[in-house]
Amino acid sequence: MDASAIHDIFIIGGGINGCGIARDAAGRGYSVVLAEMNDLASGTSSGSTKLIHGGLRYLEHYEFRLVREALMEREVLWKMAPHIIWPMRFVLPYAKGLRPAWMLRLGLFLYDHLGGRKLLPPTRTLDMHSDPAGKPLKPLFGKAFEYSDGWVNDARLVVLNARDAADRGATIRTRTRVVEARRDADHWLLTLQDQRTRATDTVRARLLVNAAGPWVDRVLGGVAGHNDVHNVRLVGGSHIVVRKKFDDPRAYFFQNRDGRIIFAIPYEADFTLIGTTDRDFDGDPAEAGITDAEVDYLCAAASEYFLEPVRRADIVWSYSGVRPLYDDGASKAQEATRDYVLRAEGGEGVPPLINVFGGKITTYRRLAESMLEKIEGYLGRRSKAWTAASTLPGGDFPHDGFEAEVARLRKAHPYLEAAHAHRLVRLYGTRAQTLLGLAKSAEDLGRHFGVDLYEAEVRYLMQHEWASTADDVLWRRTKRGLRLTGEQAEELDRFMIAEQGRRAAAE
Ligand code: FAD
Repeated sequence: MDASAIHDIFIIGGGINGCGIARDAAGRGYSVVLAEMNDLASGTSSGSTKLIHGGLRYLEHYEFRLVREALMEREVLWKMAPHIIWPMRFVLPYAKGLRPAWMLRLGLFLYDHLGGRKLLPPTRTLDMHSDPAGKPLKPLFGKAFEYSDGWVNDARLVVLNARDAADRGATIRTRTRVVEARRDADHWLLTLQDQRTRATDTVRARLLVNAAGPWVDRVLGGVAGHNDVHNVRLVGGSHIVVRKKFDDPRAYFFQNRDGRIIFAIPYEADFTLIGTTDRDFDGDPAEAGITDAEVDYLCAAASEYFLEPVRRADIVWSYSGVRPLYDDGASKAQEATRDYVLRAEGGEGVPPLINVFGGKITTYRRLAESMLEKIEGYLGRRSKAWTAASTLPGGDFPHDGFEAEVARLRKAHPYLEAAHAHRLVRLYGTRAQTLLGLAKSAEDLGRHFGVDLYEAEVRYLMQHEWASTADDVLWRRTKRGLRLTGEQAEELDRFMIAEQGRRAAAE
């Protein structure tokens, strides 16, 4: 990279917000560099509940602006990436002594009508004694409401935004930490450190975006040398994954006695995802992990509803994330606003810095548009918003065309098992064809690492999606980590290290 070139925009952070902004800006012709200190989506953006949702619960906190914007985004995002985003129905059982039925009905009426719902079906009432959704639950839940929201593969949404940004000219540097950001005359001078070799280099840019998620204040204080660094409230949240508790494709929305709610969601075919918790977090977000109290809380809350209790021993995996919520002074973690704030400083001879505080996966595209408006105010250009009608890599097929896409892939590659083809289309959409190339049999896919993970997929992830460790492949690009043994994962790691060595030697 030419150290003397002055780029338009430098972005700190390869989570959904950083990558969404990079894509939008690159698509408008700006020269963009993004640095991520670890893997793409290794921060909060792979630790979410994975819902593209308006946030029914936020209505109780009168967050109408946020809910409306998020509701409208559901169908926009579904059309942009129908492989990794799809509609899901949620069953909300009415529980005596908790929120009254009229309140649930009113909330869902608003949810249905606040905006943007053209394709998703509306709310309906269920008799849980006759509807299959009642089967895995205790018989005391006689009535429920069923409403629509969306599901997203969060980590892949990040990677696909990065991929598209790079395809449009952005430079994406992973395993690259920004260690210093200082103003140098009319631009920023950024010092970057490669986290593998510890080598440093510098990059110059006219404008700096701080999209470091839960690290946003640390970047302001430690990297950019600011004094006022309390803008976000860090709120940790954890999920548990258990063997599947029910066969229904619908998810459950359970109200808890403490006023909070949790979801139980069908996950990765054979599992149920249960979460989340909310607790104030203090420390390095990279160290976030589930606590014993959170495990007990989630097991107890889900067991209030399921006939068969959820036990600690049922847990096959858990994960935690840290929400970087804009600090609006709310007393409880679950009451802090989920809306985002973009705060800019500089201009008129002082190179601008724009910070991202808060935000949801669901609203990342709108956040990027608002960011571009601010950026263009500084850079003195005007361009048109373009992402609402775009598709993300692999998402160039109709929103209801998933099964047809699977059939197309199986026709071109008849040796694929149905479940394998389904998984590849879910992850890569139309690009599954590129990944498989000219293979005529499973043997042509190269080395077999376990279940349906082959060398061809690993190579594709290394070449096109910045994967460099087994964890990148097993826990962020795919969730094969749920099924591979420890030995198989080590074997994959050894393969990837050797492959990188081979590539480095060839360069
Ligand atoms: P991050 O994803 O954390 O990205 C910031 C990145 O910056 C990190 O990858 C980090 O490594 C990098 N970085 C930091 N410092 C540096 C540096 N010095 N140099 C280089 N890189 C650096 N939203 C929804 O819409 N739906 C949900 O269902 C949902 N559920 C959630 C459940 C939980 C438990 C949590 C925690 C959040 C949930 N969210 C949900 C919110 C959503 O996940 C976050 O708002 C979003 O992921 C934040 O993205 P981000 O890009 O701002 O931060």
